[in-house]
Amino acid sequence: MSVEIRNVNKTFGSYVALKNIQLNIETGELVALLGPSGSGKTTLLRIIAGMESPDPQRELNGDSDSATEPKVLFFGDDVASMSVGQRRVGFVFQHYALFKHMTVFENIAFGLRVQPRSTRPPKSEIQDRVHRLLNLIQLDGFGNRFPMQLSGGQRQRVALARALAIEPRVLLLDEPFGALDAKVRQSLREWLRRLHDELHTTTILVTHDQEEALEVSDRVVVMNQAAIEQVGTPEDVFHHPASEFVMDFLGAVNVFHGRFADSGLPANSDSTRIPDSTRIYVRPHEMRIERSRQSPDSIPAIIERINRAGVQGKVLLQSGTLGPIRVDIPLDQLDALDLKTGESVFVVPMNTRSFTSDYSI
Ligand code: ADP
Ligand code: MG
Repeated sequence: MSVEIRNVNKTFGSYVALKNIQLNIETGELVALLGPSGSGKTTLLRIIAGMESPDPQRELNGDSDSATEPKVLFFGDDVASMSVGQRRVGFVFQHYALFKHMTVFENIAFGLRVQPRSTRPPKSEIQDRVHRLLNLIQLDGFGNRFPMQLSGGQRQRVALARALAIEPRVLLLDEPFGALDAKVRQSLREWLRRLHDELHTTTILVTHDQEEALEVSDRVVVMNQAAIEQVGTPEDVFHHPASEFVMDFLGAVNVFHGRFADSGLPANSDSTRIPDSTRIYVRPHEMRIERSRQSPDSIPAIIERINRAGVQGKVLLQSGTLGPIRVDIPLDQLDALDLKTGESVFVVPMNTRSFTSDYSI
């Protein structure tokens, strides 16, 4: 186990930024911390790095209980008293300013050059290592350039090489591609995954982009309002969301509120008994459109808009009882159905999940 986080709470004044965080990161895995802005991702990352400390344990009657003591362990060792440098973490932030007045080569070498003489590698080894890293980030021959002479994507690759130069025990990435445009972000995401498969450096990637988290990571930690909602493989959290929040955050959903009597929605064998507070979630690609009613579960709806500009067709429908419904269907099926706006059709949910709670979106 690389990193163990136990009983971590963090408050800023009266604001609770982290609530009872328990998390284990295995050696060599790439874990994404995924959640909306303000959910506590950066705070958790800073605590792992040693740039922030967890709240001390609240003592009851002067006694402290070791079972609820806050702890951050690296490879089994308590790192509470270790500085950022001693923990040997590598960092990349969204706006990680490279040193403007230093070349790419000097930027990458920086972390090695500032080490005390006793641990600093000899000059020739620093040279070798920087050249290997330049090769790894596919910027051979760029060593003499200055950051200004690089694109945004190239700069973030240099920032990553700089973080990797010290051979970190844990690599921490905080929205590293957040400031880049979609196309560059996509290619850097694929590149990061390949790089990780090569190096196997234990990596924690903070992102609010669910696609990024689902695509690159081995496991996803979904955070919401200072707490962890679910931890699982990308497949797990997408197909088996543990909560309404996770279901909603990880992709497009149709949410049907309230009573379902007469709606045809197969929520339950006796849909009239579903309380108002129950919401039924169906992903747009888990619904089918039929021209005639073929199953008792189908919902009558009118086609409002059809959009073919994508890998799947998106159909927006209106149902009298349930409101707007979005259905995603493969283009060939869309063509075969030959749908027209204004037409009456039937929508069949193929996979529904119901939740009853006070969560609202
Ligand atoms: P995320 O990275 O998920 O967007 P953060 O961990 O940065 O979230 O922040 C969580 C919450 O904690 C935010 O509402 C933020 O305003 C607050 N916060 C973070 N750092 C501080 C600080 N040093 N002082 C006061 N509030 C802070
Ligand atoms: Mg953040």
